[in-house]
Amino acid sequence: MLEKMEENFDPETIIEEFEALSKDAERVQRETLKKILEENGETEYLQRSGLNGRTDPNSFKAFVPLVTHKDLEPYIQRIADGDNYNPSILTSKPITTISLSSGTTQGKPKFVPFNDELMESTMQIYKTSFAFRNREYPIGNGKALQFIYSSKQFKTKGGLTAGTATTNVYRDSQFEKTMKAMQTPCCSPEEVIFGPDFHQSLYCHLLCGLIFQDQVQVVSSTFAHSIVHAFRTYEQVWEELVDNIRNGILSSHITVPSIRLSMGKILKPNPILADKIYEKCMGLSNWYGLIKELFPNTKYVYGIMTGSMEPYLNKLRHYAGGLPLVSADYGASEGWIGANVNPKLPPELATFAVLPNIGYFEFIPLKEGLNGQEPVGLTEVENGEEYEIIVTNFAGLYRYRLGDIVKIKGFHNSTPELQFICRSNLLLSINIDKNTEKDLQLSVEAAAKLLSEEKQEVVDFTSRVDLSTDPGHYVIFWEISGESNDIVLEKCCNCLDTSFVDAGYVSSRKVNAIGALELGIVKKGTFHKILDHYVGLGAAVSQFKTPRCVGNTNSVVLQILSTNLLKSYFSTSF
Ligand code: AMP
Repeated sequence: MLEKMEENFDPETIIEEFEALSKDAERVQRETLKKILEENGETEYLQRSGLNGRTDPNSFKAFVPLVTHKDLEPYIQRIADGDNYNPSILTSKPITTISLSSGTTQGKPKFVPFNDELMESTMQIYKTSFAFRNREYPIGNGKALQFIYSSKQFKTKGGLTAGTATTNVYRDSQFEKTMKAMQTPCCSPEEVIFGPDFHQSLYCHLLCGLIFQDQVQVVSSTFAHSIVHAFRTYEQVWEELVDNIRNGILSSHITVPSIRLSMGKILKPNPILADKIYEKCMGLSNWYGLIKELFPNTKYVYGIMTGSMEPYLNKLRHYAGGLPLVSADYGASEGWIGANVNPKLPPELATFAVLPNIGYFEFIPLKEGLNGQEPVGLTEVENGEEYEIIVTNFAGLYRYRLGDIVKIKGFHNSTPELQFICRSNLLLSINIDKNTEKDLQLSVEAAAKLLSEEKQEVVDFTSRVDLSTDPGHYVIFWEISGESNDIVLEKCCNCLDTSFVDAGYVSSRKVNAIGALELGIVKKGTFHKILDHYVGLGAAVSQFKTPRCVGNTNSVVLQILSTNLLKSYFSTSF
């Protein structure tokens, strides 16, 4: 199928294919389930379920249990250890690659199986959303400035290649072909994408972007955080970049030989370009419109901007200076789910149309009163309702609770359009209070408004529950852009406390069953240290999501936060 798509990669054909699939979503789902179960019916996992060759949705639900990653861990570990023979454990075709999910939510990376079918669905989703994007924002032949990074790959005990899902994708030859077919090859040579040092790769991505500045059509990354991070770095290093272009000499702190060699082929002395960039930067006020100025032919900025990326939107809009922000698709290391087929919607309203042939999807209703109800099928969901999503795919996951909550925002033909709401695990909870990452984000947004009145911004944030005090209390950590001002930060702290509207929290605060909320201000650069820590663990910057709550067992991150703590404020609101 992929080859067929490669040959006729005509956006209109891709749209027609998607229209056909989405018009017939129910049948496509049944067939997809049948195909998955027929292919893998002989595996140890499905044999044990007692499914006994049945392939219909009802039997599937009756015999195969809902599972979390923890339930599958022993199976995946055996695969990673090389025990994948006769019968195969999760899939009939041996798994040759393992993906490491970013793990920023749980604190440690999880292993999930990766195979050719996942690669194929990745390309299907990329092409589908590209086709819809291209209708609204056609791009000419040019390049994409992509802030993408690979993580280290290693061999598991059983000799399987393991790396983050994005790394597995970038390493696959299909990726480059697809990028070329989309007319937007990456500005940077692959030595930069695959470089072993993320700081050096980032610097060179920026340099390549500047060298090809008039060819750049799209500025993108997997998650929006990487774009914001890149341009914050640009603010620090731009004069050095301009010098490199003027003299045609790469800075000496770029030490990786393969990167130096590949950059040497494209970096030539260019004083005219250096002057042009210098003038543009000097002409900007507080870096507003930086992306548009530097890359005047850019049609849009692209990356995942929903969920835990929403807090970066303000800054991204500031850098983009009026260029459209287009939110990228919805998926996970475990597999893709939906494509953004309405690219004109602002990221806050972005939805994802489920591709009914890339997996079998079920939804646990979360509506009050329906708790504990059986999951419903893809085409049985109700508009406006929230669900926890369950994935069955071609890579050995059967009825797998991904851990995400989505809301149905209408249908594209008969396939639902999902809005990402949040991870399903509660972030902050001490007794009867229940707050998710979305609740925390809303509270931070409300308080950050007070800070913006002072022309300052929250660079990044996280939280924890502190049970060492009696009663326990929430601690929210902020890195802010300017100098701290006690009066404003005291107000922010009170606002954070009162902006949690969850009845359990409010009532507990009133009777002091939860103590005063603490706002901790950390030194500038603290969140970079947290990112560096995760990268050191094998996470890829491309998939990095700041953990919005630090568990009490995550001692390294807690240590980074406490050693960088400048000052704490306690709420006086209740
Ligand atoms: P990873 O662990 O890196 O595979 O991350 C997968 C998780 O990232 C998903 O389960 C979601 O929670 C989140 N995610 C992925 N795509 C999106 C999106 N478009 N919007 C919001 N969150 C997303």
